[in-house]
Amino acid sequence: MKELIEKAQHIVIFTHMAPDGDAMGSSLALWHWLKGLRDVTVIVPNAYPSFLAWMPGADQIRIYEKENAACDKLIAEADLFICTDFNDPKRIGPMGEKMLANPAKKILIDHHLNPVDFADEVHSEPEASSSCEIVYKLLFQEERINAAEPQCKRAHGTCLTTDIATCIYTGLMTDTGNFSYNSARCEIYEIVAELVRAGVEKEKVYDAVFNQYSTDRMRLTGYALYRKMRIYPEHHLALITLDANELDRFHYQPGDCEGLVNMPLQIGDVYYSVCMREERAKPGTPKSRIRISFRSQGDRPVNIWAGEVFHGGGHMNASGGEIFGTIDQAVALFEQTYSKYLKK
Ligand code: 5GP
Ligand code: MN
Repeated sequence: MKELIEKAQHIVIFTHMAPDGDAMGSSLALWHWLKGLRDVTVIVPNAYPSFLAWMPGADQIRIYEKENAACDKLIAEADLFICTDFNDPKRIGPMGEKMLANPAKKILIDHHLNPVDFADEVHSEPEASSSCEIVYKLLFQEERINAAEPQCKRAHGTCLTTDIATCIYTGLMTDTGNFSYNSARCEIYEIVAELVRAGVEKEKVYDAVFNQYSTDRMRLTGYALYRKMRIYPEHHLALITLDANELDRFHYQPGDCEGLVNMPLQIGDVYYSVCMREERAKPGTPKSRIRISFRSQGDRPVNIWAGEVFHGGGHMNASGGEIFGTIDQAVALFEQTYSKYLKK
């Protein structure tokens, strides 16, 4: 990876659609690490949620949906791509094809299962808690140095600054539900210790991500749980659906449904949870997009179901997918297929 970076002048870092804390954290950590040495840009396919806008460097991210032409130019001129937190070029939308059209080398840093074979250098660790954990290990684990130490001037990037540590911490925290799942390995807490040593204010990060919701978002959550949650007791399964009109009523903003799909798992005998959300058809396209999130607990995979029925995939306990059509069509497909893919 260092060799590839050494040869590069114009680096583009990509992360996935609807960027979450780990996507933002892993891409921005790399960006901070490289920015003094190379021309480097983070490009995301669409807007990141407002509860991540405080992240150091977020204001420098380019959003493809808003700046098509400028981003196309950056992609065409890049001589190295670093892809974080996704395993398939399709997860960056139309930019995927544009990246593949450029023969420049590609580095993949990711923790999703079965990465598509498109990168020249692959750091794929499905057992890692987050892509941020992998970024930390790649950049800092061997040297264990922090900003206070004089020897931290290095050939291939900067030391573990507070900004980098804060980005990495954010992804670790969000991808483990504030260290409640995928976080049983001691190593994670050794990394957290190093990050806190480097200046991360962990209570502040928690507060910035989880305690800044709008009133509308809170009421949307209440509405979804009270009025829209169905339980399929035999399969320990919950389903929440929200159509575009319902989302409008609560002035839906990107990220407002983040975490909603996890909530039914707080019920004692619910082990599977699915959330469907309608995005209205864009002008010129006939059908709405139904975004579907899947979650489960323990040895109950949802990724096969998400992959085979809903054109998606993901981790065993956290997957996503989509269909183009109506919520009713998505629910019909859900009801026709869940007993085939889920345990009783
Ligand atoms: P979320 O429900 O948060 O949108 O997605 C949960 C996880 O599912 C993500 O971290 C990602 O790994 C995976 N995922 C979501 N959407 C897709 C998709 O369309 N395709 C694939 N392969 N994975 C997805
Ligand atoms: Mn992730």
